[in-house]
Amino acid sequence: MEKIIETDVAIIGAGPTGLSLACQLVRYGVDFVIVEKNEAITPYSKALGVHARTLEIYEQLGVAGKALERGEVAKKFRLLEGGEVRGEIHLADIGKNLSPYPFMLILEQSKNEQLLYEYLQGHGKEVLWSTELESFSQDAEGVRVMVKNAEGYKTIRAKYLAGCDGARSPVRHALGLSFEGSTFERIFYVADAQVDWALPHDALQVCLARDVFTAFFPMKGEKRYRIVGTFPEGVDKDEGDVVYEEIEEQIKREAKLELEISDVQWFSLYKVHTRRVNKFSEGRCFVAGDAAHIHSPAGAQGMNTGIQDAYNLAWKLAFVLKGRADEKLLETYNEERVENAQRLLETTDRMFELGAGSNWLMSFIRTTIFPPVAGFLVSFDIVKRTIFPLISQIGINYRDNSLSDHSGDEDFDVRAGDRMPYFLIDGESIYDRLREPKFHLLLFSNGESDAAVCGKLERAYDGLLDCHAVPITARVKEIFGTSEAFNVLLRPDNYIGFISKDSVDGVKEYLRRFIK
Ligand SMILES: Cc1cc2nc3c(=O)[nH]c(=O)nc-3n(C[C@H](O)[C@H](O)[C@H](O)COP(=O)(O)OP(=O)(O)OC[C@H]3O[C@@H](n4cnc5c(N)ncnc54)[C@H](O)[C@@H]3O)c2cc1C
Repeated sequence: MEKIIETDVAIIGAGPTGLSLACQLVRYGVDFVIVEKNEAITPYSKALGVHARTLEIYEQLGVAGKALERGEVAKKFRLLEGGEVRGEIHLADIGKNLSPYPFMLILEQSKNEQLLYEYLQGHGKEVLWSTELESFSQDAEGVRVMVKNAEGYKTIRAKYLAGCDGARSPVRHALGLSFEGSTFERIFYVADAQVDWALPHDALQVCLARDVFTAFFPMKGEKRYRIVGTFPEGVDKDEGDVVYEEIEEQIKREAKLELEISDVQWFSLYKVHTRRVNKFSEGRCFVAGDAAHIHSPAGAQGMNTGIQDAYNLAWKLAFVLKGRADEKLLETYNEERVENAQRLLETTDRMFELGAGSNWLMSFIRTTIFPPVAGFLVSFDIVKRTIFPLISQIGINYRDNSLSDHSGDEDFDVRAGDRMPYFLIDGESIYDRLREPKFHLLLFSNGESDAAVCGKLERAYDGLLDCHAVPITARVKEIFGTSEAFNVLLRPDNYIGFISKDSVDGVKEYLRRFIK
């Protein structure tokens, strides 16, 4: 008789999104099966930039330290034009006071996948490698998934299915979700190589030109760089028709620098698409990561966004599967992440136009106006406080979504739906207290201890909520815009659900609406 694998969640695809979802489900003690058609994690570097929000999520998994050890902080952004250095932006602490990780970390996708895979293995979990999704069907109780590997066919019976199966997503196709958008006409290239030149290996170097760009990301290892760029408009070739020599020629022509490229370990060509699904779920099936959205590489957002999709979905699945929340909580995954995907596509399109678009005004600003003033502009706090949250993804908020209760937040500078702001208490990060996969209630006060109230609430919510008494310091006052006592209820993904100066009755009312 055929053996059926029973599980709570079937995850299709073990890229950064699928692995992240698996890791998050481990945190919540949810059973899952993860299948991947390849035989191992990707050997290619692919995504390079790891942003602050991802590192905050890694911190909860206990792997942020390893990520920092294995990667390299991007220290500077150097702008070149016509072979000359025209400007420099200091990046190493551009997000100072906004996150424990006030920078972008350069750590290849393969190493991120390795990190997440190690976490799974460390918790006794394994990926079903060389196993491909064949088909699936769903009914009111669950999803029946047929997979195939060298031994033959297997059936997985899961309560939910998550398609983390990349840009061509078979899951998305089978669900009939639309993937509308557009394709850039231009060809992009990437190459991981050794570059010998006069420039120091301390910066992300970008060569600006009228309608192309060429960027060199410093990677770990002497003189190692990821080179990314575009061919100019009008180069009308298919991706398969370009040989590596043409790429090298293009790099040298556009960089306008004395340089030698050698030891090319990987190169690839691709066309950039800007597309997203119309919805992130259908019945008991979800899509996440590239399966749900693809866009230009400007801003290094793709892998980071997939990791956050998974982070958003995991706690909702966990609460529903454990019978602590109604199934309608799962609808908020679509609500929150579809809106985020829409914003992401718009932002990356704008960043791409600024960096490489052929619009005359934009290219004039890019090559002539921006480089000499860039460093000066970014030295202003207000500019840092605008740019860093946008690129690092700490600024993503769910203010307009149904889990954000605004009934008490009108007097605050921080609103329901915002990520919990970062600050220190007695020299320690507030995030150190927020690692448990639960709701967190923070009672902010001016001295008198709330320990008794906290203990009572924790007992009442029976393992679902941790409560913390926090003093109102000068920094807390500055961030939240009040010196009066207040309370903040955080969802398990550390977004504010409810904030108020009133008694904790409002918190109880909020929890009653979502939690069983
Ligand atoms: C050159 C380049 C540079 C990039 N730079 C950045 C960057 O700096 N920062 C950033 O954030 N993003 C970047 N990205 C984007 C990033 O690589 C993707 O967004 C990321 O890989 C998406 O992860 P994912 O897990 O959603 O999808 P994928 O990584 O595509 O993983 C999907 C997995 O599903 C598996 N799969 C597919 N079909 C099946 C099936 N039927 N059965 C079983 N398994 C299946 C695939 O084999 C694959 O392993 C870059 C991309 C490229 C190409």
